[in-house]
Amino acid sequence: MKSSLSYEQLRAAANEYGTPLYVYHAEKIVSQYQNLLSHFSSNNTRFFYASKALTNIHILDVVKRSGCNVDCSSINEAKLALHVGFEPKNILYTSNSVSFEEIYEAVSLGIHVNIDSLSNLEKFGEKFGNRYPVGVRVRPNIMAGGNLKISTGHDKSKFGIPVTQLNELIEIQEKYNINIATLHIHTGSEIKDVAVFLQSAEVFDTLLASFPTVNVLDFGGGFKVPYQPNEKGTDIALLGAEVNKAMMRLSEKYGRKLMAWFEPGKYMVSECGYFVTTVNVLKQSGDIHFAGINTGLNHLIRPMFYDSYHHIDNISNPTASPQRYAVVGNICETDTFAWDREIPTIQEGDFLVFYNAGAYGYEMASNYNARFKPAQVLFEDGISKLISRRDTFEDLLSLQLPLHK
Ligand SMILES: *Cc1c(COP(=O)(O)O)cnc(C)c1O
Repeated sequence: MKSSLSYEQLRAAANEYGTPLYVYHAEKIVSQYQNLLSHFSSNNTRFFYASKALTNIHILDVVKRSGCNVDCSSINEAKLALHVGFEPKNILYTSNSVSFEEIYEAVSLGIHVNIDSLSNLEKFGEKFGNRYPVGVRVRPNIMAGGNLKISTGHDKSKFGIPVTQLNELIEIQEKYNINIATLHIHTGSEIKDVAVFLQSAEVFDTLLASFPTVNVLDFGGGFKVPYQPNEKGTDIALLGAEVNKAMMRLSEKYGRKLMAWFEPGKYMVSECGYFVTTVNVLKQSGDIHFAGINTGLNHLIRPMFYDSYHHIDNISNPTASPQRYAVVGNICETDTFAWDREIPTIQEGDFLVFYNAGAYGYEMASNYNARFKPAQVLFEDGISKLISRRDTFEDLLSLQLPLHK
Protein backbone atom coordinates (compact mmCIF):
# COMPACT_ATOMS: atom_id res chain seq x y z
CA MET A 1 0.00 0.00 0.00
CA LYS A 2 1.49 3.29 -1.08
CA SER A 3 1.78 5.90 1.62
CA SER A 4 1.61 9.58 0.88
CA LEU A 5 4.21 10.15 3.55
CA SER A 6 7.37 8.28 2.58
CA TYR A 7 8.97 5.53 4.66
CA GLU A 8 11.83 7.92 5.14
CA GLN A 9 9.62 10.67 6.55
CA LEU A 10 7.92 8.22 8.90
CA ARG A 11 11.27 6.82 10.09
CA ALA A 12 12.63 10.31 10.60
CA ALA A 13 9.59 11.26 12.68
CA ALA A 14 9.91 8.07 14.75
CA ASN A 15 13.59 8.80 15.40
CA GLU A 16 12.96 12.44 16.25
CA TYR A 17 9.84 12.15 18.42
CA GLY A 18 10.02 8.53 19.64
CA THR A 19 7.35 5.84 19.40
CA PRO A 20 4.54 5.02 19.69
CA LEU A 21 3.72 8.02 17.54
CA TYR A 22 0.71 9.23 15.58
CA VAL A 23 1.80 11.01 12.39
CA TYR A 24 -0.60 12.97 10.16
CA HIS A 25 -0.29 14.44 6.69
CA ALA A 26 -2.04 17.79 6.21
CA GLU A 27 -2.10 17.71 2.40
CA LYS A 28 -4.02 14.42 2.44
CA ILE A 29 -6.84 15.99 4.47
CA VAL A 30 -7.07 18.90 2.05
CA SER A 31 -7.05 16.62 -0.99
CA GLN A 32 -9.85 14.48 0.46
CA TYR A 33 -11.97 17.61 0.92
CA GLN A 34 -11.09 18.83 -2.58
CA ASN A 35 -12.20 15.48 -3.97
CA LEU A 36 -15.59 15.84 -2.31
CA LEU A 37 -15.97 19.39 -3.63
CA SER A 38 -15.12 18.31 -7.15
CA HIS A 39 -17.96 15.78 -7.34
CA PHE A 40 -20.86 17.60 -5.70
CA SER A 41 -22.81 20.59 -6.89
CA SER A 42 -20.99 23.61 -5.51
CA ASN A 43 -23.97 25.85 -4.90
CA ASN A 44 -26.11 23.53 -2.81
CA THR A 45 -23.76 21.18 -0.93
CA ARG A 46 -21.87 21.76 2.31
CA PHE A 47 -19.50 19.41 4.11
CA PHE A 48 -18.98 19.36 7.86
CA TYR A 49 -15.95 17.40 9.06
CA ALA A 50 -17.12 15.06 11.86
CA SER A 51 -14.45 16.14 14.29
CA LYS A 52 -14.91 13.27 16.73
CA ALA A 53 -12.66 11.27 14.37
CA LEU A 54 -9.69 13.44 15.36
CA THR A 55 -10.07 16.61 17.40
CA ASN A 56 -6.54 17.94 17.76
CA ILE A 57 -6.77 21.70 17.22
CA HIS A 58 -3.95 21.65 14.65
CA ILE A 59 -5.98 19.17 12.59
CA LEU A 60 -9.10 21.32 13.02
CA ASP A 61 -7.00 24.25 11.82
CA VAL A 62 -6.00 22.35 8.66
CA VAL A 63 -9.69 21.58 8.10
CA LYS A 64 -10.65 25.22 8.63
CA ARG A 65 -7.96 26.49 6.25
CA SER A 66 -9.22 24.02 3.62
CA GLY A 67 -12.60 25.79 3.80
CA CYS A 68 -14.51 22.83 5.22
CA ASN A 69 -17.08 23.23 8.04
CA VAL A 70 -17.16 21.14 11.20
CA ASP A 71 -19.69 18.74 12.79
CA CYS A 72 -19.51 18.08 16.53
CA SER A 73 -20.68 15.25 18.76
CA SER A 74 -20.39 17.13 22.02
CA ILE A 75 -20.55 20.72 23.20
CA ASN A 76 -16.83 20.54 23.99
CA GLU A 77 -16.03 19.67 20.38
CA ALA A 78 -18.01 22.75 19.39
CA LYS A 79 -15.97 24.82 21.82
CA LEU A 80 -12.74 23.40 20.37
CA ALA A 81 -13.93 24.45 16.91
CA LEU A 82 -14.71 27.96 18.18
CA HIS A 83 -11.29 28.02 19.85
CA VAL A 84 -9.71 27.27 16.48
CA GLY A 85 -11.64 30.14 14.92
CA PHE A 86 -14.48 28.44 13.05
CA GLU A 87 -17.41 30.81 12.75
CA PRO A 88 -20.55 29.62 14.56
CA LYS A 89 -22.43 29.40 11.25
CA ASN A 90 -19.87 26.84 10.09
CA ILE A 91 -20.31 24.62 13.14
CA LEU A 92 -22.96 21.94 13.44
CA TYR A 93 -23.74 20.08 16.64
CA THR A 94 -25.39 16.70 16.10
CA SER A 95 -26.42 15.78 19.61
CA ASN A 96 -27.61 12.44 20.93
CA SER A 97 -28.95 11.64 24.40
CA VAL A 98 -27.63 14.96 25.69
CA SER A 99 -29.16 17.04 28.45
CA PHE A 100 -31.22 20.01 27.27
CA GLU A 101 -28.63 22.29 28.90
CA GLU A 102 -26.16 21.34 26.15
CA ILE A 103 -28.66 22.21 23.45
CA TYR A 104 -29.40 25.50 25.20
CA GLU A 105 -25.65 26.19 25.31
CA ALA A 106 -25.29 25.35 21.62
CA VAL A 107 -28.02 27.87 20.82
CA SER A 108 -26.29 30.52 22.91
CA LEU A 109 -23.08 29.83 20.95
CA GLY A 110 -25.02 30.47 17.75
CA ILE A 111 -24.18 27.14 16.10
CA HIS A 112 -26.44 24.79 14.13
CA VAL A 113 -28.04 22.04 16.21
CA ASN A 114 -29.55 18.70 15.28
CA ILE A 115 -31.90 17.34 17.94
CA ASP A 116 -32.41 13.60 18.21
CA SER A 117 -35.30 13.05 20.60
CA LEU A 118 -38.93 14.16 20.90
CA SER A 119 -38.22 15.01 24.50
CA ASN A 120 -35.47 17.53 23.72
CA LEU A 121 -37.43 18.88 20.76
CA GLU A 122 -40.36 19.60 23.06
CA LYS A 123 -38.06 21.41 25.51
CA PHE A 124 -36.54 23.31 22.60
CA GLY A 125 -40.00 24.36 21.44
CA GLU A 126 -41.00 25.54 24.93
CA LYS A 127 -37.83 27.60 25.24
CA PHE A 128 -37.29 29.01 21.77
CA GLY A 129 -40.57 28.60 19.82
CA ASN A 130 -39.75 29.52 16.24
CA ARG A 131 -36.93 31.93 17.09
CA TYR A 132 -34.02 29.60 16.21
CA PRO A 133 -33.88 27.31 13.16
CA VAL A 134 -33.14 23.76 14.25
CA GLY A 135 -32.41 20.35 12.76
CA VAL A 136 -34.14 17.10 13.57
CA ARG A 137 -32.39 13.75 13.34
CA VAL A 138 -34.70 11.01 12.17
CA ARG A 139 -34.09 7.30 12.34
CA PRO A 140 -34.99 5.84 8.96
CA ASN A 141 -34.96 2.16 10.01
CA ILE A 142 -32.32 1.38 7.39
CA MET A 143 -29.61 -1.19 8.11
CA ALA A 144 -26.29 0.07 6.77
CA GLY A 145 -22.63 0.32 7.69
CA GLY A 146 -19.58 -1.89 8.15
CA ASN A 147 -20.89 -3.81 11.18
CA LEU A 148 -23.62 -3.64 13.84
CA LYS A 149 -21.49 -1.57 16.24
CA ILE A 150 -21.18 1.20 13.66
CA SER A 151 -24.74 1.03 12.30
CA THR A 152 -26.94 3.82 13.58
CA GLY A 153 -30.06 3.95 11.42
CA HIS A 154 -31.63 0.52 12.01
CA ASP A 155 -34.88 -0.09 13.88
CA LYS A 156 -33.18 -0.97 17.19
CA SER A 157 -30.74 1.95 17.15
CA LYS A 158 -30.76 4.59 19.89
CA PHE A 159 -30.11 7.36 17.37
CA GLY A 160 -32.72 9.78 16.06
CA ILE A 161 -36.48 10.04 16.18
CA PRO A 162 -37.98 6.90 14.61
CA VAL A 163 -39.85 7.67 11.38
CA THR A 164 -42.71 5.69 12.86
CA GLN A 165 -43.21 8.55 15.35
CA LEU A 166 -43.79 11.08 12.61
CA ASN A 167 -47.18 12.11 13.98
CA GLU A 168 -45.77 13.00 17.39
CA LEU A 169 -42.95 14.90 15.70
CA ILE A 170 -45.37 16.94 13.61
CA GLU A 171 -47.54 17.59 16.67
CA ILE A 172 -44.59 19.09 18.56
CA GLN A 173 -43.56 21.14 15.53
CA GLU A 174 -47.07 22.59 15.24
CA LYS A 175 -47.63 23.08 18.96
CA TYR A 176 -44.59 25.38 19.30
CA ASN A 177 -44.39 26.58 15.68
CA ILE A 178 -40.79 25.28 15.63
CA ASN A 179 -38.68 26.36 12.65
CA ILE A 180 -37.36 22.95 11.60
CA ALA A 181 -34.77 23.86 8.98
CA THR A 182 -32.92 20.57 8.65
CA LEU A 183 -33.84 16.93 8.39
CA HIS A 184 -30.90 14.71 9.33
CA ILE A 185 -30.15 11.03 8.71
CA HIS A 186 -26.87 9.31 9.56
CA THR A 187 -27.16 5.57 9.02
CA GLY A 188 -23.68 4.45 10.06
CA SER A 189 -20.01 4.24 9.20
CA GLU A 190 -18.14 2.54 6.35
CA ILE A 191 -21.06 2.71 3.92
CA LYS A 192 -19.73 1.69 0.54
CA ASP A 193 -23.06 1.40 -1.19
CA VAL A 194 -24.21 4.67 -2.76
CA ALA A 195 -27.77 3.31 -2.74
CA VAL A 196 -27.89 3.76 1.05
CA PHE A 197 -27.62 7.53 0.65
CA LEU A 198 -30.31 7.45 -2.03
CA GLN A 199 -32.53 5.54 0.39
CA SER A 200 -32.09 8.47 2.78
CA ALA A 201 -33.22 10.76 -0.04
CA GLU A 202 -36.34 8.57 -0.41
CA VAL A 203 -37.04 8.91 3.31
CA PHE A 204 -36.63 12.69 3.06
CA ASP A 205 -39.09 12.58 0.16
CA THR A 206 -41.73 11.02 2.42
CA LEU A 207 -41.12 13.69 5.09
CA LEU A 208 -40.67 16.97 3.24
CA ALA A 209 -44.37 17.71 2.76
CA SER A 210 -44.86 17.67 6.55
CA PHE A 211 -41.97 20.09 7.18
CA PRO A 212 -42.60 23.25 5.17
CA THR A 213 -39.68 25.15 6.73
CA VAL A 214 -37.02 22.55 5.90
CA ASN A 215 -34.38 23.75 3.44
CA VAL A 216 -31.46 21.45 4.37
CA LEU A 217 -31.24 17.68 3.94
CA ASP A 218 -28.36 16.39 6.03
CA PHE A 219 -27.22 12.94 4.86
CA GLY A 220 -24.72 12.45 7.71
CA GLY A 221 -21.31 10.86 7.19
CA GLY A 222 -20.06 7.32 6.89
CA PHE A 223 -18.25 7.28 3.53
CA LYS A 224 -16.06 4.22 3.35
CA VAL A 225 -12.34 4.50 2.76
CA PRO A 226 -10.10 1.57 1.76
CA TYR A 227 -8.42 -0.15 4.72
CA GLN A 228 -7.21 -3.30 2.99
CA PRO A 229 -4.68 -3.09 0.16
CA ASN A 230 -7.09 -3.89 -2.68
CA GLU A 231 -10.25 -2.58 -1.14
CA LYS A 232 -12.43 0.11 -2.69
CA GLY A 233 -14.03 2.98 -0.80
CA THR A 234 -17.31 4.71 -1.53
CA ASP A 235 -17.43 5.84 -5.16
CA ILE A 236 -17.51 9.58 -4.48
CA ALA A 237 -17.99 10.51 -8.14
CA LEU A 238 -21.04 8.26 -8.39
CA LEU A 239 -22.37 9.43 -5.02
CA GLY A 240 -22.00 13.06 -6.07
CA ALA A 241 -23.76 12.52 -9.38
CA GLU A 242 -26.64 10.58 -7.80
CA VAL A 243 -27.13 12.94 -4.88
CA ASN A 244 -27.06 15.96 -7.20
CA LYS A 245 -29.83 14.31 -9.25
CA ALA A 246 -31.89 13.44 -6.17
CA MET A 247 -31.53 16.97 -4.79
CA MET A 248 -32.66 18.53 -8.08
CA ARG A 249 -35.66 16.25 -8.17
CA LEU A 250 -36.66 17.00 -4.57
CA SER A 251 -36.10 20.75 -4.97
CA GLU A 252 -38.35 20.76 -8.00
CA LYS A 253 -40.99 18.52 -6.49
CA TYR A 254 -41.34 20.64 -3.35
CA GLY A 255 -40.66 24.01 -4.99
CA ARG A 256 -37.91 24.85 -2.53
CA LYS A 257 -34.20 25.44 -2.84
CA LEU A 258 -32.82 22.51 -0.84
CA MET A 259 -29.22 22.20 0.37
CA ALA A 260 -27.45 18.86 0.94
CA TRP A 261 -25.15 18.61 3.95
CA PHE A 262 -22.69 15.81 4.70
CA GLU A 263 -20.63 15.00 7.80
CA PRO A 264 -17.61 12.95 6.72
CA GLY A 265 -15.25 11.90 9.52
CA LYS A 266 -13.25 8.88 8.36
CA TYR A 267 -13.25 10.07 4.80
CA MET A 268 -11.49 13.29 5.78
CA VAL A 269 -8.82 11.97 8.13
CA SER A 270 -8.50 8.16 8.11
CA GLU A 271 -5.87 7.94 5.39
CA CYS A 272 -3.90 10.98 6.53
CA GLY A 273 -2.80 9.11 9.67
CA TYR A 274 0.03 6.68 10.42
CA PHE A 275 0.63 5.03 13.75
CA VAL A 276 4.33 4.24 14.15
CA THR A 277 5.38 1.67 16.75
CA THR A 278 8.52 -0.25 17.71
CA VAL A 279 8.90 -4.03 17.97
CA ASN A 280 9.99 -4.86 21.53
CA VAL A 281 9.98 -8.64 21.42
CA LEU A 282 9.89 -11.48 18.92
CA LYS A 283 8.57 -14.74 20.30
CA GLN A 284 7.92 -18.05 18.61
CA SER A 285 5.39 -20.61 19.78
CA GLY A 286 4.65 -23.59 17.55
CA ASP A 287 4.21 -22.06 14.14
CA ILE A 288 3.13 -18.66 15.45
CA HIS A 289 5.62 -15.82 15.23
CA PHE A 290 4.63 -13.10 17.68
CA ALA A 291 5.81 -9.55 17.15
CA GLY A 292 5.23 -7.73 20.44
CA ILE A 293 5.13 -3.96 19.96
CA ASN A 294 5.39 -1.00 22.33
CA THR A 295 1.70 -0.14 22.26
CA GLY A 296 -1.66 -1.82 22.73
CA LEU A 297 -5.41 -1.45 22.55
CA ASN A 298 -4.97 1.55 24.83
CA HIS A 299 -3.58 3.45 21.82
CA LEU A 300 -5.42 1.87 18.89
CA ILE A 301 -8.57 0.10 19.95
CA ARG A 302 -10.22 -0.45 16.57
CA PRO A 303 -8.84 -3.96 15.87
CA MET A 304 -10.05 -5.33 19.22
CA PHE A 305 -13.22 -3.21 19.45
CA TYR A 306 -14.50 -3.50 15.87
CA ASP A 307 -12.36 -6.34 14.45
CA SER A 308 -11.00 -3.66 12.14
CA TYR A 309 -8.25 -4.36 9.66
CA HIS A 310 -5.33 -1.92 9.69
CA HIS A 311 -2.63 -2.54 7.15
CA ILE A 312 0.77 -3.01 8.83
CA ASP A 313 4.15 -2.47 7.22
CA ASN A 314 7.74 -2.78 8.42
CA ILE A 315 9.16 0.62 7.58
CA SER A 316 12.61 -0.28 8.90
CA ASN A 317 13.00 -2.94 6.24
CA PRO A 318 10.10 -2.72 3.76
CA THR A 319 11.81 -4.85 1.11
CA ALA A 320 12.60 -7.85 3.36
CA SER A 321 10.91 -11.09 2.36
CA PRO A 322 7.46 -11.41 3.94
CA GLN A 323 6.73 -13.73 6.87
CA ARG A 324 3.52 -14.38 8.79
CA TYR A 325 3.18 -12.73 12.19
CA ALA A 326 0.73 -12.28 15.01
CA VAL A 327 1.19 -8.62 15.93
CA VAL A 328 0.38 -8.15 19.60
CA GLY A 329 0.47 -5.30 22.11
CA ASN A 330 2.04 -4.81 25.53
CA ILE A 331 -1.15 -4.49 27.56
CA CYS A 332 -2.23 -7.06 30.19
CA GLU A 333 -5.17 -8.03 28.08
CA THR A 334 -5.41 -9.86 24.78
CA ASP A 335 -4.68 -7.02 22.43
CA THR A 336 -3.97 -8.51 19.06
CA PHE A 337 -3.66 -6.12 16.13
CA ALA A 338 -3.37 -8.87 13.51
CA TRP A 339 -3.54 -12.64 13.98
CA ASP A 340 -1.81 -14.00 10.91
CA ARG A 341 -0.41 -11.26 8.74
CA GLU A 342 2.29 -11.15 6.07
CA ILE A 343 4.83 -8.47 6.95
CA PRO A 344 8.39 -7.95 5.67
CA THR A 345 10.66 -9.96 8.03
CA ILE A 346 10.90 -8.25 11.39
CA GLN A 347 13.89 -7.74 13.69
CA GLU A 348 13.51 -6.51 17.24
CA GLY A 349 13.75 -2.72 17.21
CA ASP A 350 12.07 -2.34 13.81
CA PHE A 351 9.39 0.30 13.31
CA LEU A 352 5.98 -1.08 12.32
CA VAL A 353 3.47 1.37 10.89
CA PHE A 354 -0.32 1.05 10.98
CA TYR A 355 -2.11 2.77 8.10
CA ASN A 356 -5.53 4.48 8.26
CA ALA A 357 -4.68 5.68 11.75
CA GLY A 358 -6.06 9.20 11.41
CA ALA A 359 -9.70 8.48 12.30
CA TYR A 360 -10.70 7.07 15.70
CA GLY A 361 -7.10 6.17 16.55
CA TYR A 362 -5.61 8.67 18.97
CA GLU A 363 -9.10 9.94 19.61
CA MET A 364 -10.09 6.67 21.29
CA ALA A 365 -6.78 6.25 23.12
CA SER A 366 -6.64 5.97 26.90
CA ASN A 367 -4.15 5.66 29.74
CA TYR A 368 -5.16 2.03 30.45
CA ASN A 369 -2.37 0.17 32.30
CA ALA A 370 -1.11 3.62 33.35
CA ARG A 371 0.71 3.95 30.06
CA PHE A 372 1.40 7.27 28.42
CA LYS A 373 -0.70 8.38 25.51
CA PRO A 374 1.40 8.73 22.34
CA ALA A 375 2.63 12.02 20.92
CA GLN A 376 1.08 13.38 17.71
CA VAL A 377 2.98 14.93 14.82
CA LEU A 378 1.73 16.79 11.75
CA PHE A 379 3.56 16.97 8.42
CA GLU A 380 2.75 20.04 6.33
CA ASP A 381 4.80 21.28 3.38
CA GLY A 382 7.21 18.41 4.07
CA ILE A 383 7.99 19.67 7.58
CA SER A 384 6.99 17.83 10.75
CA LYS A 385 5.85 19.51 13.93
CA LEU A 386 4.73 18.18 17.28
CA ILE A 387 1.01 18.90 17.78
CA SER A 388 0.58 17.12 21.11
CA ARG A 389 3.33 15.81 23.33
CA ARG A 390 3.60 12.35 24.85
CA ASP A 391 2.27 12.06 28.40
CA THR A 392 4.70 12.25 31.29
CA PHE A 393 4.52 10.52 34.65
CA GLU A 394 3.27 13.80 36.15
CA ASP A 395 0.34 13.72 33.71
CA LEU A 396 -0.75 10.38 35.18
CA LEU A 397 -0.99 12.04 38.59
CA SER A 398 -2.19 15.43 37.45
CA LEU A 399 -5.91 14.89 38.07
CA GLN A 400 -5.46 12.87 41.24
CA LEU A 401 -5.41 14.63 44.58
CA PRO A 402 -2.16 14.15 46.51
CA LEU A 403 -1.98 11.38 49.15
CA HIS A 404 -0.23 13.49 51.75
CA LYS A 405 -1.19 17.06 52.38
C1 LIG B 1 -19.63 9.66 13.70
C2 LIG B 1 -20.56 10.51 12.92
C3 LIG B 1 -20.21 10.95 11.64
C4 LIG B 1 -18.94 10.53 10.95
O1 LIG B 1 -18.91 9.20 10.63
P1 LIG B 1 -17.69 8.66 9.71
O2 LIG B 1 -17.96 7.21 9.54
O3 LIG B 1 -16.44 8.92 10.47
O4 LIG B 1 -17.74 9.43 8.43
C5 LIG B 1 -21.08 11.81 11.00
N1 LIG B 1 -22.24 12.22 11.58
C6 LIG B 1 -22.60 11.80 12.80
C7 LIG B 1 -23.87 12.28 13.37
C8 LIG B 1 -21.78 10.93 13.50
O5 LIG B 1 -22.16 10.51 14.71
